[in-house]
Amino acid sequence: MIPITKPFMPPQKEYEEYLKGIWQREYLTNNGPLVQGLEKDLENYLKVDHMRFVSNGTMALQIAIKALGLEGEVITTPFSYVATTSSIVWEGAKPVFVDIDPETLNINPAAIEKAITPNTTGIVATHVYGNPCDIEAIEKIANQYDLKVIYDAAHCFGGQYKGQSVFHYGDISVVSFHATKLFHTTEGGGLVTCDPELEHKISRLRNFGHDGPGEFDGVGINGKNSEYHAAMGLCNLKYIDEIMERRKNQWLRYISLLRNENTRGIKLNPKAHFNYAYFPLIFESEERLLHVKQSLEENEIYPRRYFYPSLNELDYVEYKPAPHAESISKRILCLPLYHGLKAEEQDQIIGIINKYELAKVS
Ligand SMILES: *Cc1c(COP(=O)(O)O)cnc(C)c1O
Repeated sequence: MIPITKPFMPPQKEYEEYLKGIWQREYLTNNGPLVQGLEKDLENYLKVDHMRFVSNGTMALQIAIKALGLEGEVITTPFSYVATTSSIVWEGAKPVFVDIDPETLNINPAAIEKAITPNTTGIVATHVYGNPCDIEAIEKIANQYDLKVIYDAAHCFGGQYKGQSVFHYGDISVVSFHATKLFHTTEGGGLVTCDPELEHKISRLRNFGHDGPGEFDGVGINGKNSEYHAAMGLCNLKYIDEIMERRKNQWLRYISLLRNENTRGIKLNPKAHFNYAYFPLIFESEERLLHVKQSLEENEIYPRRYFYPSLNELDYVEYKPAPHAESISKRILCLPLYHGLKAEEQDQIIGIINKYELAKVS
């Protein structure tokens, strides 16, 4: 069986070393030494100013929306994971969908500008599959119309834009450390900002609004994460270069094997350094996708329709047409890609896809 993904597992002994420390200190959560250590190590590794560790990526999105005071209309992409949209709705704002660029699959900056109204307060854009958005264009629009920008950078660990961590951009960048992501802490997420005041606000928001033991500053939530999760992150961070190198080689292997004239990949941002987090394939039609998916599943290979459906079609949002996002979400399939995936398994997967294609042609 080949699943879409498997979590990276560090050597168990290394995790157990951290457990010993936890047992000695009897300090399990509430901004403990491992949480603080992980934040420091991530800031150093990524060369970002402030990284705050929270319970998951969705919580990070919600805290970001709250911290920046987004309300009214928030312009966002229909081509992302559901958490991007649900967080906006959960925080009481209205998601306004604009279409994506059909080549990069990221939000189209020109469409953002057209959707701005006096009620617009911000933009929530996703760097889809780890491929950064047209950040320069989005920044320009945000400055011109005085809008806040949150990047859902859940897929972007290790990615760069113009020579800096992609998390450096936007008022806040949000990342997920879920078990399925390139770098993980089992469950977990992070908020990155360059603004120290915003960083303080994020720290208060994730801790019930506490500003000292008996002081509160605003409505907070419990977005804290534990020493156990931080320990997993500290273990995994030691292997991140190896993880990223392997992922790149696997990605390039897929590309070199694929003989499919009727599929395409995504166009990578030339100003960015891609992290090779996902391997999406865009088919000519949904029918072809379903055929290939079925052939793979018959061989116990489980690719994933990701992202599907297009988020503007959710039943709790106001529908606005987004033809590119709607069409692509029906025709895109992510192939298995994870640290333990073997070269022979990749060959088998591509063999099935190529065979289907040849049968179709002849
Ligand atoms: C994974 C993911 C999230 C949610 O992160 P969790 O840590 O699972 O809550 C949000 N947005 C995108 C694009 C994601 O891929």
